[in-house]
Amino acid sequence: MIPTPTCLRRERPMHQRAGRCDSAGYNGRPLQTAVIEMAAVPACPQCSLENTYADGALFVCADCGHEWAAGDAPAAATVVRDCNGNVLSAGDTVTVIKDLKVKGSSIPLKQGTVIRSIRLIEDDPEHIEGHSDKIKGLVLKTIYLRRA
Ligand SMILES: [Zn+2]
Repeated sequence: MIPTPTCLRRERPMHQRAGRCDSAGYNGRPLQTAVIEMAAVPACPQCSLENTYADGALFVCADCGHEWAAGDAPAAATVVRDCNGNVLSAGDTVTVIKDLKVKGSSIPLKQGTVIRSIRLIEDDPEHIEGHSDKIKGLVLKTIYLRRA
């Protein structure tokens, strides 16, 4: 016969467990736990806001939707380099070094086009996002870009 929950509970050293719980100070415990949980979830490495929570092995930012694995340091972020190997950062201005066809647009992206205030793409060191004066929402290969 399958033991009922009542049977299982009786098998445990109930008095010892209850005693330990009391001496640990039940009042202080919930508060302590809450503090530890808050400290364990770091601020979002993407937008640096602290409205983050743990979801399994991942941390999730409620503000920008960024997800990252526990133990990922912001310093370990993807390094994006231009055609010369210079590191590109979000907000940089780059110049297109080659005429490029643009998917979904009849206007080509001309060599020498300036892309201001680029955005990096998470886990993709080969592309950046940006707008030219004529075309919005470009995804560009970094090998065709030079930091201005
Ligand atoms: Zn965020």
